[in-house]
Amino acid sequence: MIRILCLSLMLSFAGRGIAQAPPAVPARHTSHAPGHAAPSAIEVWDSLMAGNRRFVAGKPQARDLASLRHNLASGQSPKAIILSCSDSRVGPELIFDQSLGDIFVVRTAGNIADAVALGSIEYAVDHLHSPLLVVLGHQKCGAVSAACSGEKMPSHNLDAIMEKIDPAVAQAKTYARADDLVESAIKENVHRSAMDLVANSEIIRNAIKSGKLTVIEAEYELESGQVVRWNAPVHSQN
Ligand SMILES: [Zn+2]
Repeated sequence: MIRILCLSLMLSFAGRGIAQAPPAVPARHTSHAPGHAAPSAIEVWDSLMAGNRRFVAGKPQARDLASLRHNLASGQSPKAIILSCSDSRVGPELIFDQSLGDIFVVRTAGNIADAVALGSIEYAVDHLHSPLLVVLGHQKCGAVSAACSGEKMPSHNLDAIMEKIDPAVAQAKTYARADDLVESAIKENVHRSAMDLVANSEIIRNAIKSGKLTVIEAEYELESGQVVRWNAPVHSQN
């Protein structure tokens, strides 16, 4: 809780005096009708949650992918950025029932924000002007479970992932029961990734500060299919 509060305070501080609405997005394709204002971060989040409800109900929207593909060939303007785990059960386009051009997805094992992930997100923030960034963890995350186990990794590349997750595990160990450690560490790890985004990227910090970007932390529940938001939306005036 304290860490969630810390991020909220950090982002609230960064966002002091910000504009009430994100700027218009250049009309590079048909993600919103020409002449209409770009959707706010909260409107985008609501549309993602509506898509998640369709996914849970097993009633995805019918789409003309051939037509979409044709329309998007000239450019993209994704409405949201998703940093999620690479786990094959957590495909963001599927669980949010989104389509081509809708979301800019960055995936790493354990949804960690390393330099390459940060650079990818910076591109979407700075060039594509997506107003919402979702850091998405998920239940039973294998990467976080491995970090909780403390087992030695067989390569330095895998070690690099563990090193990113270890601080979340250490934090979770200060309060979690043994049978709740992985789930608590998953939440801590999502929060740490969100903190890393703010701490290690001037582009992301500035976008938050100027009201152009909102960060939401969430978890995907494997069995129910639901996405659950943890932190209150930052810049909820949008
Ligand atoms: Zn995972």
